Amino acid sequence: MAEITCTRCGQTREGLDSAPYPDDMGQEILDKICAECWHECKGMQVMVINENRLDLSDPRAHEILEKSTREFLGLTPFKSD
Ligand SMILES: [Zn+2]
Repeated sequence: MAEITCTRCGQTREGLDSAPYPDDMGQEILDKICAECWHECKGMQVMVINENRLDLSDPRAHEILEKSTREFLGLTPFKSD
């Protein structure tokens, strides 16, 4: 497991083993975010899903979740095109 300098907490720590999503955001998380911040992010996602009663079979739900995740981790902002 490689160490990375995390852009969220600013510390050099262990990163993830592999991208958590097979898309741009997954790659960005793998490159920039440490395992600890990712763990916190997953907790945040569960809260967002519960609070908004998201149905993950709905593409809208994924959009809301992606926006929240990008915001939480300080990634490049969500762009819908
Ligand atoms: Zn971090």
